[in-house]
Amino acid sequence: MIQLTDLPPVRGTVTANRDLSSLTWMRVGGPADVLFQPADIDDLSTFLAALPKDIPVFPMGVGSNLIVRDGGVRGVVIRLGRGFNGIAFDGDLVRAGAAALDAHVARKAAAEGLNLTFLRTIPGSIGGAVRMNAGCYGDYMADVLQEVRVVLRDGTVQTLAAAELNLAYRSSDLPEGAVLVEATLRAPREDAQVLEDRMAAQLAKRDETQPTKDRTAGSTFRNPSGFSSTGRADDTMDLKAWKVIDDAGMRGAVRGGAVMNTMHSNFLTNAGGATAADLEGLGEEVRKKVYDTSGITLHWEIMRVGEPAPKD
Ligand SMILES: Cc1cc2nc3c(=O)[nH]c(=O)nc-3n(C[C@H](O)[C@H](O)[C@H](O)COP(=O)(O)OP(=O)(O)OC[C@H]3O[C@@H](n4cnc5c(N)ncnc54)[C@H](O)[C@@H]3O)c2cc1C
Repeated sequence: MIQLTDLPPVRGTVTANRDLSSLTWMRVGGPADVLFQPADIDDLSTFLAALPKDIPVFPMGVGSNLIVRDGGVRGVVIRLGRGFNGIAFDGDLVRAGAAALDAHVARKAAAEGLNLTFLRTIPGSIGGAVRMNAGCYGDYMADVLQEVRVVLRDGTVQTLAAAELNLAYRSSDLPEGAVLVEATLRAPREDAQVLEDRMAAQLAKRDETQPTKDRTAGSTFRNPSGFSSTGRADDTMDLKAWKVIDDAGMRGAVRGGAVMNTMHSNFLTNAGGATAADLEGLGEEVRKKVYDTSGITLHWEIMRVGEPAPKD
């Protein structure tokens, strides 16, 4: 167990044994040994440089694509807050802190006549959006990302070009333990009112087709034929995860408090009182059923972190 007194001094906040369930959309999971909320980039960089190398580090965003397991996360979980949520404009470039919410960036960009509307309905932060190459309605982070600033595990601050991250369908290559702190996006110009109307239409479409008010982490599994991240015509993802889940008879399947949502069967949901083990167990059951019935292996899109609950 890490002792707070062993950790480097910080200007931000360090909390021992911090419950993570309240910081995730699924509302499940055990504690982090330590939760660090740095004051700014310097604070983060100084902390990581001095943190003993054998202590693992896990950066989280706002937990909209995460299942934290019931035993919690060993090491230091880093969650960026106020010092990292600035949004600035320079021509068609948008510089956003990693803690800025996607929706907020989309709205501010639209007011400037810049089209980042695809971010409006994604509930995460910019750090999570880069890491996951988030996207919807044909547009993805990969289409607009120019460069990122990261703080590496040894505390070095670096700028990486978008190409170095190898953004692909819901994935990226980030060095282990690296924390994204800022992203620069290039957004196409469009009339502000047109952008407002598009965002309103996309929000309405979401509410019609997805359980946006439930405790989920969005799509549970990647679409089996999804490979592209560009929004181009080859990015069809014809074979949808929800369809193969339906075909395997798993829509509405239940395990403890976990359910495969009846509105959208690729949305694993905490219907009340679920543990992380219920959710992950049900997900694994779905993967097995789909494989047994169709020979298709579903891959998790939701990131699962931490350890299972200790056995009594
Ligand atoms: C209702 C709902 C709808 C959704 N719809 C979509 C959708 O249409 N398209 C889509 O792409 N996703 C969607 N998602 C999934 C999710 O919102 C995205 O994956 C989002 O980008 C995750 O961001 P986050 O800040 O919540 O990251 P988290 O869930 O906290 O973390 C996700 C991953 O990103 C990493 N990460 C986060 N911040 C940083 C950082 N600063 N530095 C380094 N790594 C970091 C974490 O380590 C983790 O591996 C949806 C989720 C929900 C709940």
